[in-house]
Formats: sequence, structure tokens, C-alpha cells
Amino acid sequence: IIKFDKVVKRFGSVTVLNELDFSVSPGEKVTIIGPSGSGKSTVLRILMTLESINDGVVWVDGEPLWHEERGGKLQAASEKHMHRMREKLGMVFQQFNLFPHMTVRRNLTEAPIRVLKLSKKEARERADRLLEMVGLQDQADKYPHQLSGGQQQRVGIARACAMRPRIMLFDEPTSALDPELVGEVLNVIRNLAEEHDLTMLLVTHEMQFARQISDRVCFFDRGRICEEGPPSELFSEPKEARTKEFLRAVV
Ligand code: ATP
Ligand code: MG
Repeated sequence: IIKFDKVVKRFGSVTVLNELDFSVSPGEKVTIIGPSGSGKSTVLRILMTLESINDGVVWVDGEPLWHEERGGKLQAASEKHMHRMREKLGMVFQQFNLFPHMTVRRNLTEAPIRVLKLSKKEARERADRLLEMVGLQDQADKYPHQLSGGQQQRVGIARACAMRPRIMLFDEPTSALDPELVGEVLNVIRNLAEEHDLTMLLVTHEMQFARQISDRVCFFDRGRICEEGPPSELFSEPKEARTKEFLRAVV
């Protein structure tokens, strides 16, 4: 459902993704780990079309993300194509990124009404179901600043789900939280991971959690996948020296 084909991404003279080949199957739960600056967030940002690429092709759901096929040739994508592709994905950010001037409920109804053209009633019903799913049915009329970090992040997850994406991206969703609030957010993600059809791509430093929920773990190093495999193998018997060194440092 996701495929990076020899993708190159540079910032100025710095090559962040170096002919990256990477793919995720429908329904698969994949965790990306790796040192700071190895390109983990860049991969997610490219998928959300928040960053462009310099070379290669990114495929989502069988269609090229940055290009459109016209007359059998790949050409720069139209705005319409980009919007349609973006709707396939939902993203949860490290810093929550909620709309501060909107109530919790409106944070969840805004995009479904505007983009999916849901009626107010439908959007509200969907929002209330999702708030129940993340255990925040009582907080619907509050504003983000009135919630704890863990509660805000649970709203962030519910908001991403409100668009019913086929693919959910998480960029270090718990690293801005106080330690005692991490568990409640991981529980919500764990419940989502039980949805068979949902494809999940998660960047995290929570190795124990990655081990529990992932079908596959990818260790990124310098803009490439250095090593990948099922968590049982990658964590217990890493093959590459760089992986061993990284795991020794973080676990
Ligand atoms: P971390 O674990 O610290 O979040 P990461 O693996 O997510 O790291 P990226 O955020 O993908 O790393 O960044 C990869 C490299 O690209 C870093 O060296 C970073 O400084 C650089 N970079 C990222 N965004 C930009 C930008 N907008 N302009 C210039 N350089 C950038
Ligand atoms: Mg990052």
C-alpha cells in the first residue's frame, strides 16, 4: 500500500534519503526506529505531502504520490490529485498540533465537514464515537489547553481517525509526554493496531511497545534501511553492527 522506490530527498547539500527503497503491505503494522537525523520523520512528511522529493517515486495505494499518470506518462501532480492522495493518510504528531481555538469536538468535526462534506450531525456523531473510543467523551466541550498532554494526544489520534484513513502515521506520539501519561496513549494506539485492515507506520523510541504491536521493525540509518525484520528477530538477534550499537544505546 506504500512503496518508496529509490527515493532521494535532499535539504540543500545534505542528502537525507539516499535512494530509499521501502514498502508496507495493506494492514501491516510497521515501526521505524533509528538515530536522530536518519530520515524517519522525513519519510512520514513525504507521505503527507508536507515535503517533496528530489528523485524516485513514492506509491500510495497503487498510485504515484507526487506525479499523476497521464497518457501512460508520469507528470507533476495536480492539486486535486494531491488532495485525493492525502485523504488516504492520517497523521499523529509529536506535538499534538491540535487547533488551539477550537473545542475538542470541533477539532474532530472540522475536516470531515469541510473535506468529506459530512453533515454537522453526522460529523458530530462520528466525533462522539471516537471520543468514546479514546476515553474522552466527557471532554468534548473543552479547549486543548484545558487538557493534559496525554489527553491532547488522544484527541490527536481521534482527529486523525475522523477522516477514516486507510493508513495511519505516528511520529513519536509519546515523546513529548510526561512518563506517567505515555501508557494511556500507547493503549489507544494498541487498540487501533488490532484493526486488521488499518495500515500503521509508527516512528517511536518505545522499543517494548514496538515489539508488542509491530509485524515488522525497520532500522533506519543515514537515509536508508540498514536492517529490517520481525521484532522478535531484530530486537533479539540484530545482524548489523549499526543496529546492535543503536539497540545497546537505547534499551
Ligand atoms: P529525530 O529522531 O531527531 O526526529 P529523524 O530521523 O526524524 O530524527 P528527520 O527529521 O527526518 O530525522 O531529518 C533528517 C535530516 O534532515 C536531519 O539532518 C535534519 O536536520 C534535516 N532536515 C529535516 N527537515 C529539514 C528542513 N526543513 N530543512 C533543512 N534540513 C532539514
Ligand atoms: Mg523525527
